[in-house]
Amino acid sequence: MQFRRLKLSGFKSFVEPAELRIEPGLTGVVGPNGCGKSNLLEAIRWVMGESSAKSMRGGGMEDVIFAGTANRPARDFAEVLLTAETDPSGPHGGELEVVRRIERGAGSAYRVNGKDVRAKDVALIFADAATGAHSPALVSQGRIAAVIAAKPAERRMMLEEAAGIAGLHVRRRDAEQK
Ligand code: ATP
Ligand code: MG
Repeated sequence: MQFRRLKLSGFKSFVEPAELRIEPGLTGVVGPNGCGKSNLLEAIRWVMGESSAKSMRGGGMEDVIFAGTANRPARDFAEVLLTAETDPSGPHGGELEVVRRIERGAGSAYRVNGKDVRAKDVALIFADAATGAHSPALVSQGRIAAVIAAKPAERRMMLEEAAGIAGLHVRRRDAEQK
């Protein structure tokens, strides 16, 4: 799975719709302090199903919605779209488009290739591709220190995510509950 495009609207500081093409190879994001570089990485984590507001540097999940400035009103919703190139013979047939949207007072909703799905479905898609909101490939500030300080069980989870078997555990827990 290769990420191709990220679109944001009303997400954190990205109040106007913004689109970022992710070309093969290395993508660099440069800019002055506070311009939104970390917000972009958080948008990628969020659309893949991040459920912790704290790890999005907010008090509640609605804090990802543009909060307004002295001369711009706050928005009522935030939306992030991520497209990825996938195995043409796989379940998503060549292209995957995931959209997450949050509205004030209404929580988050997800769509995959135009169909409404549950958060869990999105998490499984990315877990099977050895990525996701908690992928060790996404290294945010402070993460290195967190890995060093992690308990053995937490470190094992990181290794399992990297190995692409995290999705199997979710399915096993599901099966055990049924
Ligand atoms: P640094 O170089 O310091 O790491 P950065 O480019 O990573 O900076 P970010 O942390 O991504 O910057 O962006 C921070 C900016 O996003 C701040 O100006 C903050 O006010 C703004 N911001 C965060 N959440 C919201 C929100 N809900 N509404 C409006 N602005 C927001
Ligand atoms: Mg930053």
